[in-house]
Amino acid sequence: MRNIGLAQDLIIKSDIGDIVENILHGQRIGLKECIRLIKSTDVVGLGAVANMLRQRLYGNAASFINNIILNYTNVCVTYCKFCAFYRPPGHKDTYTLSKEDILKRVLTSARTLGTTQVLIQGGHNPSLKLEYYESVFDAIKKSSKIAIHGLSPSEIDMIAKIERSSTKEVLARLKASGLDSLPGAGAEILDDDVKADISPLKIKSNEWLRIMNEAHMLGLKSSATMMYGTVENEEQQARHIMKIAELQEKTNGFMAFIPWSFEPNATEMQSEGHIRYSSGGLNLLKMIAVSRIAYFGLIDHLQSSWLTNGLGMAQLALYYGADDFGGTLIGEEVVSATGARSTELTSNKIINAIKQIGYEPLERDNFYNILKHY
Ligand code: SF4
Repeated sequence: MRNIGLAQDLIIKSDIGDIVENILHGQRIGLKECIRLIKSTDVVGLGAVANMLRQRLYGNAASFINNIILNYTNVCVTYCKFCAFYRPPGHKDTYTLSKEDILKRVLTSARTLGTTQVLIQGGHNPSLKLEYYESVFDAIKKSSKIAIHGLSPSEIDMIAKIERSSTKEVLARLKASGLDSLPGAGAEILDDDVKADISPLKIKSNEWLRIMNEAHMLGLKSSATMMYGTVENEEQQARHIMKIAELQEKTNGFMAFIPWSFEPNATEMQSEGHIRYSSGGLNLLKMIAVSRIAYFGLIDHLQSSWLTNGLGMAQLALYYGADDFGGTLIGEEVVSATGARSTELTSNKIINAIKQIGYEPLERDNFYNILKHY
């Protein structure tokens, strides 16, 4: 506690001290403060404050979920420039998993690895109707207690367009067939100038927020994400953080926030050569710290992004405000398409990584309820 007090004193005397003092007195930050935090070069100071806030909430505990990820199809007609995963319809390398295949993978991993959640995400495949998802979810629920965390807002939008239905109706039907919660993918940066550059065919910022609002109103919780490090500037990053905060004030539907860095390898953006690739370890730690500060008292959980940043950085992120390691992500194919690194971990590796830094690993379920202490 003495060290926390020392760090607090040092920060309060720094150029962001006024913001920190307000946060410590329970005030939330606004856009201008968020921009100042992101522009601050005092990453260690930001980390000290974020860690102090994290300690207040979770002490030395860090959670994770034992899960499988199913990227059910790589067929996509949205052609995001930052994506190395998709293949256009008719391409020789396309695939779509059948219901039987999905069920087999889900049940096998639950039996052999003890997974408790399946994360389902894929491309915008124009040949997959709503019945495909309903029958998959229904089959999973009839044969297991696995939680289904699936389909980002842009996938929901695609299904609605195929069905000539509303996104609200699609969400309601998916919920009825077993969908438990939504991942926050597809947000990238919630700024339409950025989207026009990196994903011009994807849903706009307001549509992402509207579909999340609809999901929350239907009782479907979700996570929120931010993919940073492409063409955006600090103000656009801050606006993204604030837009999610505004919706959370209204719905309280976001369970977690997950900032991750753009991985350019094998993407159209890399081949165009015009990216401002500004990610890396220091930026990850800063984004984690700013997120904890911005969402303190608002969004409970902050994930450490091991998938795009690696195990070592994810450990460090736990000292910069993150409280959750995310999932084991057995079967991940989207980030692995960039060739970045191994994109799955066993639960033992996560448990060891958390223990290595002196924290207590907690296995959680889809809704962040603690299942087991290690
Ligand atoms: S990020 Fe998603 S929507 Fe965009 S091209 Fe890749 S698979 Fe398609």
